[in-house]
Amino acid sequence: MDILLLGAPGSGKGSQAELLEKVYGIVQVSTGDLLREAVSNKTEVGIKAKVKMDKGELVENECVLKLLSERIKKSDCDNGVIFDGFPRNIEQTKLLDDLLVERGRKLDLVVNIEVPFEIIISRLNSRRMCKNCGKGYNMISNPPKGVNCDLCNGEIIIRDDDKEDVVRNRLDVYDKNTKPLISYYSEKSLLVNIDGVGKISDIFEELNRHIKEKKVQ
Ligand code: AMP
Repeated sequence: MDILLLGAPGSGKGSQAELLEKVYGIVQVSTGDLLREAVSNKTEVGIKAKVKMDKGELVENECVLKLLSERIKKSDCDNGVIFDGFPRNIEQTKLLDDLLVERGRKLDLVVNIEVPFEIIISRLNSRRMCKNCGKGYNMISNPPKGVNCDLCNGEIIIRDDDKEDVVRNRLDVYDKNTKPLISYYSEKSLLVNIDGVGKISDIFEELNRHIKEKKVQ
């Protein structure tokens, strides 16, 4: 099953992807995580990407594609992928189609997680991340059990691009570049909308229902 999670930053794509991984045994591929890894490893792509990421802008398509195509060559992606954060513009939808077609696959389902703007802003304010393994937390709805990361005991930090001025820009970028993907995939009859406000487990139940209805397993 190849599934795409769409939604603004802070809509909860990462939390739903975590549950999908557990229940369906398919792997989440987040281009944001791949880029952050490249930035911290100071690779050529990472150095170039950091300039855009620090401003909340989209990284050049070819940089993101390079990381994504390397990642999905790995065998854990053979049975399907939960795409999180890619595509983010119309050109990238074509790039994703190509990557999947090369493997004899296609997107089975696109899930748009809807969350009102004010809630997104407050969620991003309380969002944290493990500096070491990248696990996401929310200090209100999903805090770590202790001071450090539950999984690896790494330091919990605020992402640079979750700072307020960058957040505004990321939401503008989302509106302009990524929101049009909702109608794009809707016209292809691939899209389902789910309400992203509420308990993570309830939202997952709705998502799961759509997967079963679409019989995409
Ligand atoms: P995310 O963790 O998905 O919010 O991504 C963090 C940042 O990485 C974004 O604000 C962009 O600067 C960059 N990024 C992630 N995915 C993409 C993509 N598909 N295309 C361009 N830039 C991306």
